[in-house]
Amino acid sequence: MTIRTRFAPSPTGLLHIGGARTALFNFLYARHHGGTFLLRIEDTDRERSTQQSVDVILEGLAWLGLNADEPPVFQSTRAARHAAVVDELLATGHAYRCYATPEELRQMREQAIAERRPPRYDGRWRDRDPSEAPAGIAPAIRLRAPRAGETIVEDLVQGPVRVANAELDDMILLRGDGSPTYLHAVVVDDHDMDITHVIRGDDHLTNTFRQLQIYDAMGWEKPRFAHLPMIHGPDGAKLSKRHGAVSVLEFDREGFLPEALCNYLLRLGWGHGDAEILSRDEAIALFDLPGVGRAASRMDYAKLTHLNGVWIRAADDGRLTAEVLRRLHDRPGLTLDDTAAQRIHTLMPGLKERSKTLVELADSAAFLARSVPLPFDAKAAAILTPDAKHLLQSLAPALAASDFTPAAIDAALRAFAEAAGKKLGQVAQPLRAALTGSTVSPGIDATLAALGRAEVLARIEAAIATP
Ligand code: GLU
Repeated sequence: MTIRTRFAPSPTGLLHIGGARTALFNFLYARHHGGTFLLRIEDTDRERSTQQSVDVILEGLAWLGLNADEPPVFQSTRAARHAAVVDELLATGHAYRCYATPEELRQMREQAIAERRPPRYDGRWRDRDPSEAPAGIAPAIRLRAPRAGETIVEDLVQGPVRVANAELDDMILLRGDGSPTYLHAVVVDDHDMDITHVIRGDDHLTNTFRQLQIYDAMGWEKPRFAHLPMIHGPDGAKLSKRHGAVSVLEFDREGFLPEALCNYLLRLGWGHGDAEILSRDEAIALFDLPGVGRAASRMDYAKLTHLNGVWIRAADDGRLTAEVLRRLHDRPGLTLDDTAAQRIHTLMPGLKERSKTLVELADSAAFLARSVPLPFDAKAAAILTPDAKHLLQSLAPALAASDFTPAAIDAALRAFAEAAGKKLGQVAQPLRAALTGSTVSPGIDATLAALGRAEVLARIEAAIATP
């Protein structure tokens, strides 16, 4: 059997963190078993579905590296097929026309609530002869669901979950206006797409009982189901916008790498021994459903940020340089030319050691794209005393004579410090302030080498000239 999984978002909002994890688990499960990962856009709710949301979902999946193996299926294009299956169910007696008016349904609901019963359709048209149908009512089509026995979901995460069929009413498959209900459309589409494993959030578990009844009525082979526990906010409440960045693309804006977010989402609800840092390939090799836990997980931004730092350090310098340039793009006072790009690339090994997000990385690299005179932060300004400027003045000729490899710079600084009777740090500190406008940077020799001799001398001169 070839495994086929699908991610089936409704395009009514963002691709949030819970959806991203569902997509990731479907993707990994398919890849682990040499199968196929599909995407279905569940846009049957025409009023709430938007093209913008479709775009955001596709963009988010692309950013996460979770593209589907085939073009997406749009559920709304399949309405005729959904209706055809309902016709089959009518023909086999597994479905019937229900002429209950909205008013009757409302009364049924109110009475149930008054009697503290769950509101259910009472089956009043289940056995009634259609010749009794009132005029002018377009019937809804309902499933003639079994009344005895029970429906069991053999869930691959939750274990067996059962419900007495008496608890389930005859669900609507096709509304009076001819549109399919969501529960019905999902079953037909999963069947037609040959989906073998439905992996989705456990908020869908109760839908599964009803969906299984449709499979039974059609005599279709059922997929296996795996319902993933929810992701909660750090405070244990349902994850919401209140918890900050919940859209996947918001994590990009906040400077997270997709591999860090995927690594984090993988570990959120799935475990394999102590393995914390997992690449995509390692995740594909190890992921399987038995490793998914049953408890809800909590979003832990500190852990995500830690993982992001790890993945930034592992990332290619050219890619990080491009990320930094993208993020510095609209900052005032910077010149993002090839020279700046080259400097950022050269210093990247040092810069990435100290950054946990790409935003921090961009902040720390910005000085490389400035032109003299640099702005100085308060600490740097305080360091640039008349004595410090004097020191820089006498250091400049030594640097001018250096051939400016990091080793030569290091040797020149040490020789200068020794001759001046100072520690290396006492020389490096004002030099760093003059070159970066701040008091933090990667190693001073690497910083000088990245800027190049002419720029270093220009920045020293400009720092000395500041009032
Ligand atoms: N469209 C549903 C949702 O976005 C998912 C349905 C499913 O996975 O079966 O929650």
